[in-house]
Amino acid sequence: MPTSDKFRDECGVVAIYDHPEAETLAYLGLHALQHRGQESAGIVTSDGMSLHIHKSMGLVADIFTEKKLSRIRGTLAIGHTRYSTTGDSALLNAQPIMVQSNKGMIALAHNGNLTNAGEVRARMEAQGSIFQTSSDTEVIVHLIAQSREHTLPEAIADALRRVEGAFSLVMISPDRIFAVRDPRGFRPLAMGRIPAQEGRHQDTIVFASETCAFDLVGANYEREVKPGELVIVGPEGISSRFYAPALPQSSCIFEHVYFSRPDSQVFGRAVQESRENLGRQLAIESPAAADLVVPVPDSGVTAAMGYAAESGIPLRFGLIRNHYVGRTFIEPQQTVRDFGVKLKLNPVRSLLEGKRVVLIDDSIVRGTTSRKIVRMVRGAGAKEVHMRISCPPTISPCFYGVDTPRKKELIAANNSVEEIRRYIGADSLAYLSLDGLKTACGDGDKTSYCTACYTGKYPTNLVDVEEIQPAAVEKP
Ligand code: SF4
Repeated sequence: MPTSDKFRDECGVVAIYDHPEAETLAYLGLHALQHRGQESAGIVTSDGMSLHIHKSMGLVADIFTEKKLSRIRGTLAIGHTRYSTTGDSALLNAQPIMVQSNKGMIALAHNGNLTNAGEVRARMEAQGSIFQTSSDTEVIVHLIAQSREHTLPEAIADALRRVEGAFSLVMISPDRIFAVRDPRGFRPLAMGRIPAQEGRHQDTIVFASETCAFDLVGANYEREVKPGELVIVGPEGISSRFYAPALPQSSCIFEHVYFSRPDSQVFGRAVQESRENLGRQLAIESPAAADLVVPVPDSGVTAAMGYAAESGIPLRFGLIRNHYVGRTFIEPQQTVRDFGVKLKLNPVRSLLEGKRVVLIDDSIVRGTTSRKIVRMVRGAGAKEVHMRISCPPTISPCFYGVDTPRKKELIAANNSVEEIRRYIGADSLAYLSLDGLKTACGDGDKTSYCTACYTGKYPTNLVDVEEIQPAAVEKP
């Protein structure tokens, strides 16, 4: 089985207000957001009277057949694609989570991670609440259901004031869609609009984690849901309120480095632009005497374009990625060295032979994959391999909805750059500086970013101290 040595993405959410094929638009939106989570997916629709759900483990295209979609037809919809961050990845934890509450039927889909979920859950269980899942998202559902507020919008606002951490949420009731971001704006959530077609008097409002979902359903990007904002779309139109006092913004900079698709706008900024800037900045800070710039596909491609453009060194696709690698793979009994990486990547010997190569990647997490890739490029005849990473060393885990290894497994938390270079076997190794990263992503321009996985300085107090201890003695 191929191993992943990347931070793993959280989740993707989408919501549709008032379209005759809302379920199909949600399905298409999730398909565009598939890179944000591949373990399970689900859609809840409303026909104006009641909610209908279908969710399952697997990929969006496998879960939703035409027949399955026909059973959940509706004019309002929310959807979720998941890679688990809290709770295991069983179907029980798949989202959206739908419940019958004293405020009526509601369903909710969450991208992010609550840092006080354990504490709130323990308190509620002590008071008699019975939780169905191990997902942190269920905490919000219970808080809404138990709120003393009388209307659903007030109950939602009340619940959100009681949770801490990262949450971009979409919610559905029989006649409304709700879209929310946490007061620090960790995770993205954008709002778009499909202009009314002939015969329809009303535009369709769409929310999605990334704007690449808008492109597929024909929606125009309108704006970001702002940190701390609750947007409600219903029969009376669109309304907005801020449910909590403003906090310093700390949007996840890793969305621009790696998670989001380059064809998306995230936090109001084109990811392609940030990623190309990262490569340019890297070339300025850490030049290399080389013949070729080679990206580690796919995530290193855009930064490599920037590095090549800035340095004047030609860009060549010297590593080819096989896109059709499944989740499990039968390994030959006679173990093939670096089998997992070889399944995914293959070098182009005719390009690499005898060349000095600058390899561009977006991160080194444990270092094991980078080591195999460097060995692969050398094995294909490269004379020198210079590794360049388009962000600073990742030294601390994330508590805001990104699956990261523990601190003791992060190679840069426990080793110097020179030690990492030796471990991965490169002729030289350099990372982008923190200032370079912030400049490339326009920090302080429209957005202020969280950079905690590079600095260990967390924007919230509630983090697991055990998790952020460096390794005592272990070295790679
Ligand atoms: S810690 Fe890193 S991955 Fe997590 S939100 Fe902050 S920048 Fe993003």
